[in-house]
Amino acid sequence: MNVLLISCYDLGHQPFSIASAAAHLLERGHRVECLDLAVQTFDRGKILNSDVIGISVPMHTAMCLGIKVAKRAKAIKPESYLCYFGLYASLNEQKLLSNLGDTVIGGEFEGPLADYIDGLETGEMVTSGVSRPHVSGRPNLSRQEFITPVRSLLPPLEDYSKLTVSGQGEKLVGSTQTSRGCAHRCRHCPIPSAYEGRLRLVQEQVVLADIDNLVKMGAEHISFGDPDFLNGVKYSLKIVRAMYQKHSNISFDITAKIEHLLEYPEVLCELGSLGCLFVVSAVETVDDRILEYLDKGHTRDDVVVALQHTRNAGIYLKPSLLPFTPWTTMSGYLDLLAFIEEHDLIYHVDPVHYSIRLLLPPGSKLLEISELSNLVGELSNEDLVYEWEHPDGRVDALQKQIACMVESSVVDGEDWAIIFAKVKALALGKEAGYLEAFSNDLFLPVELRPPVFSESWFC
Ligand code: SF4
Repeated sequence: MNVLLISCYDLGHQPFSIASAAAHLLERGHRVECLDLAVQTFDRGKILNSDVIGISVPMHTAMCLGIKVAKRAKAIKPESYLCYFGLYASLNEQKLLSNLGDTVIGGEFEGPLADYIDGLETGEMVTSGVSRPHVSGRPNLSRQEFITPVRSLLPPLEDYSKLTVSGQGEKLVGSTQTSRGCAHRCRHCPIPSAYEGRLRLVQEQVVLADIDNLVKMGAEHISFGDPDFLNGVKYSLKIVRAMYQKHSNISFDITAKIEHLLEYPEVLCELGSLGCLFVVSAVETVDDRILEYLDKGHTRDDVVVALQHTRNAGIYLKPSLLPFTPWTTMSGYLDLLAFIEEHDLIYHVDPVHYSIRLLLPPGSKLLEISELSNLVGELSNEDLVYEWEHPDGRVDALQKQIACMVESSVVDGEDWAIIFAKVKALALGKEAGYLEAFSNDLFLPVELRPPVFSESWFC
């Protein structure tokens, strides 16, 4: 079969998902083309040439974009089979199968995707891990044998987000994964809905071969896309030790939850010595009451300790935030900004995170909280999330103001300290240009700033 694999958004990185799917399909003898619409233009010829179109939807933004692409592709080639795969595919199975696609494959998708496409060729109806209208197959959580991702079908790393490291300039970035799923069950996170607290590992030799290929393509930094790199801490350490043996000049970054940063201070020191530059951690907020609703497993005080551990290890902690939830208050938002200022985190927080608003996709564990039922409305046909309104209209208005201001400030290339001051001014009820919120103390010399990707990222 002629298979076209499409990715729309993968946090600015060359996508592991379709490179991995391509490897499995090529091994089964299919002809595969890839299209990464984050960096390439829509290609009508590739659509016309396809028998099957597979759209990777690992996160919400990718899914919203993927649906638009699917509609466009279907209009050009209605007879091509349309399949969505990845985390958000199974979460939105009902909607996607109502009129937006032929099949949905969630969880560990490579094996079921290859089986499904084999079945299209042979006429055999494959059901395991594959959902069709009126036939629901659960997300595949079996342990797969991965194959080294085929990177050569994708655009070069030069086309993707780069990492600026002070004193070292701009680095080309490759992204890979050692695991999918997560052992934890934070309530706002979509991963537990599909993986139910399970972790699935990518075999060591596959990860290392993928890193070798990325380095050959010019990668100077590896961004590990695991939901939490320290879920399988021994395994992760084994991989980065082996990577260091072979590529001691390659730096890397990871994502890990605050609880793990508290649990493994010695591991952080070793990671720092092996080239880890920063760890992204889903701090979300510093309001303990909200952290409890989200079941994050950490407190405000824990974040302070995690900061000490990462600083001791010579690693930057880059918090990701979820500041706008149904429990956010105007004073609580200002308190979060004060925390960021007090702990010198202004250049650690990507400004887009000041405006992130809680998403409630189908299956969200937060929908089980009864006190939210009055605030939650219909499932939006456009965004495929449940709409919700904050009980205090000022909070929703502030979120919109900040989102709008941050978007234009980032486009204008404004310094993050200035953007922070503007956020603070808006939160204080002033105009974004209000200067009293601004102090020269907010500026950090360039050489002290954490590494930063050339593209803002959010899920
Ligand atoms: S630790 Fe991270 S990946 Fe795991 S459930 Fe919580 S938010 Fe999701």
